[in-house]
Amino acid sequence: MSEKIHIDPELGEVLLRKSVRARRISIRIHPVRGIVVTVPYWVPYSMGVAFLASRREWAREALQRVSARDSALPEGESIESLRARAKAALPPRLRVLADRYGFKYNRVVIKHNTSNWGSCSTKGNINLNLNLMRVPEPLRDYILLHELTHLHHSNHGPKFHDELEQLLADHFSNHADDDAFQAFLPALMASRAQYPHTRVLERELKRYRLL
Ligand SMILES: [Zn+2]
Repeated sequence: MSEKIHIDPELGEVLLRKSVRARRISIRIHPVRGIVVTVPYWVPYSMGVAFLASRREWAREALQRVSARDSALPEGESIESLRARAKAALPPRLRVLADRYGFKYNRVVIKHNTSNWGSCSTKGNINLNLNLMRVPEPLRDYILLHELTHLHHSNHGPKFHDELEQLLADHFSNHADDDAFQAFLPALMASRAQYPHTRVLERELKRYRLL
């Protein structure tokens, strides 16, 4: 199986895959990878791109359906149920990450607002948004590690980004057996950004709205 990233001027990053099992070209929307075009191994990638162009309208609408799903509470979920789950899950996870990577924070509070996923005060208090329960674990960990890094650097300068990127690279290699983390690998490998983990995770997080 081989893969290639194609940048579509309108749809953005598209993953082209060659499959020995595929008999025809297909397009699907993957929750993390976005648009995935699969072509039989003997078909050139360019035919996958042409096929996508002929289904552009469908792909645009399918992408919108996926993002619409991410901007609403899941069925049966309320802010209060999110809060209860967040209180049970986020402080222990922050403790684990802080211990593993050598951070000391003061206290952690679960908040509900629509302005930020988390924050860190100069007194070393960390606030985490209950909306973090709606995003996949790698994105949740990303926010927790981002706030922990603020214990060392209170701004978003180069030193902050150097440390956070290194931390994320370590964290992803510590989760080499975890599918949720592995799903980000193709995007990470294709990224030419200076801080690929930060860039790819930030971009993915933008698909979720704070509710
Ligand atoms: Zn920050």
